[in-house]
Amino acid sequence: MIELKAVDRRYETGLLALQGVDLRIAPGEFVSLLGPSGCGKSSVLRLLAGLDLPSSGEVLRQGAAATRGPVRDAGFVFQEPTLMPWANVVTNVELPLRLQGMAAEPRAAAALAALQRVGLGEFAEAMPRELSGGMKMRAAIARALVTQPALLLLDEPFAALDEITRFALNESLLSLWLPQGEKTKVPAFTGVFVTHSVFEAVFLSQRVLVMSARPGRIIEDLRIEGPRLRDASFRQSPVFVDACARLSTALARAAEEPALG
Ligand code: ADP
Ligand code: MG
Repeated sequence: MIELKAVDRRYETGLLALQGVDLRIAPGEFVSLLGPSGCGKSSVLRLLAGLDLPSSGEVLRQGAAATRGPVRDAGFVFQEPTLMPWANVVTNVELPLRLQGMAAEPRAAAALAALQRVGLGEFAEAMPRELSGGMKMRAAIARALVTQPALLLLDEPFAALDEITRFALNESLLSLWLPQGEKTKVPAFTGVFVTHSVFEAVFLSQRVLVMSARPGRIIEDLRIEGPRLRDASFRQSPVFVDACARLSTALARAAEEPALG
């Protein structure tokens, strides 16, 4: 369980990015954060990852106050895949294990297994420049998951991809989260996904949180019913359509609110 309680974050420049943010994420949950640009979504992820501390309020992990320092069992995926261009794909994916001091052989085996899980088993020896945008992103996800983190934080990871690639990656992400499909009792990780896209948030999530414009706070918290593992047919379902309508309205409201920061 991770919890933000009455969190404010005022940056050293004086800018108030977050104000009174309350949020609870249960173990194994997949939650999306939706909100206008600059509303503080990345700021929330940094607090969850332990890369930053609130100016006031509390960040709690398993009920205990968080201290400064990155959370060891969190993986991060950003919009830029940030692969080392001079190293092949498997060497890129091994990097977090190398930083942990793991020996070469188990490290390579774990990286290869992670690549197989994201559908890049055949591309272990390829160089990043040989991969498409979607494949680079798959490699970045494999690198984030290679340490088997309990928490996966994704900051607009698919925003630069075309829609067909994005849909495929959305489905892949759900199957990584639920490795035994709908039968999965304990998901592989707790997921927090930041996006601008209402459709993407609803497709992926058990719960979608909408943030107001700066200073960011949570103005909507919507549970998305239906199966956890979803495919294209879910996009035609009443659950999907209703949730998208409701969140679009909330997002429009969020964008209207003046920035006070
Ligand atoms: P989002 O991810 O929703 O676009 P961010 O969390 O990146 O929003 O930023 C929220 C606000 O805080 C923005 O106005 C941004 O310019 C500002 N901000 C982010 N990081 C810093 C920082 N380290 N110092 C000063 N201002 C920052
Ligand atoms: Mg951001």
